[in-house]
Amino acid sequence: MQKKYIPFAFLFVVILVFLAHFSARLGAAVPAFTFADSEKVVYLTFDDGPSTKVTNAVLDVLGQEKIKATFFIVSDRTAGREETLRRIAREGHSLGVHSKSHEYHKIYASDESLLKDARDCADVIESLTGITPNLYRFPGGGCGNRDREKKLLEQAGYRVIGWNAVCGDEEIPHATADQLYDSTVKTAKGKNSVVLLCHDSANHKATAEALPRIIAYFREQGYLFKAF
Ligand SMILES: [Zn+2]
Repeated sequence: MQKKYIPFAFLFVVILVFLAHFSARLGAAVPAFTFADSEKVVYLTFDDGPSTKVTNAVLDVLGQEKIKATFFIVSDRTAGREETLRRIAREGHSLGVHSKSHEYHKIYASDESLLKDARDCADVIESLTGITPNLYRFPGGGCGNRDREKKLLEQAGYRVIGWNAVCGDEEIPHATADQLYDSTVKTAKGKNSVVLLCHDSANHKATAEALPRIIAYFREQGYLFKAF
């Protein structure tokens, strides 16, 4: 190389290094930003179980679809269904506290009764599965003083989980699987992060029936499935 070209060669190398560095940063930054910004996530949540038929039917579908969900347990309903509760844990789903009794007048009678109800439920889950639950969902969605009660539960170590979409299995009396599908689509519409409220107690056979279609819908829409 002639001497007069050396400064140009040097400049060329500097520009190349700069471009490589800059484009690598740009390349790394853009997809990460786009991903975080447009990520669609759905959390399937099931309250009021376990029940023998419905919970197991829900677990069958989730297993076939390789999806993890979150189950908020009523511990007074675990007697005789210990194996179903263990199956939820064994198959990798998340377990949360819903209530011991699910009787609102008892639960919401005082701060102490609210905390005791949660603790009693957590104790049963822990003794049957070995898992110490730290998720909580208010029975009936909470009562008058929800913000204060939420704080109490958070101070007791729980993460309180609400919802922003419903399959309608409590809202629509004797709902069919079609109605549950429609309610899911309607209430989840336009939301990038969906927490779908479903129930797996004994009277919710239609929920298990609707589940494959509900899952297919979220898949088609590009959602990832997550458990809390
Ligand atoms: Zn409930």
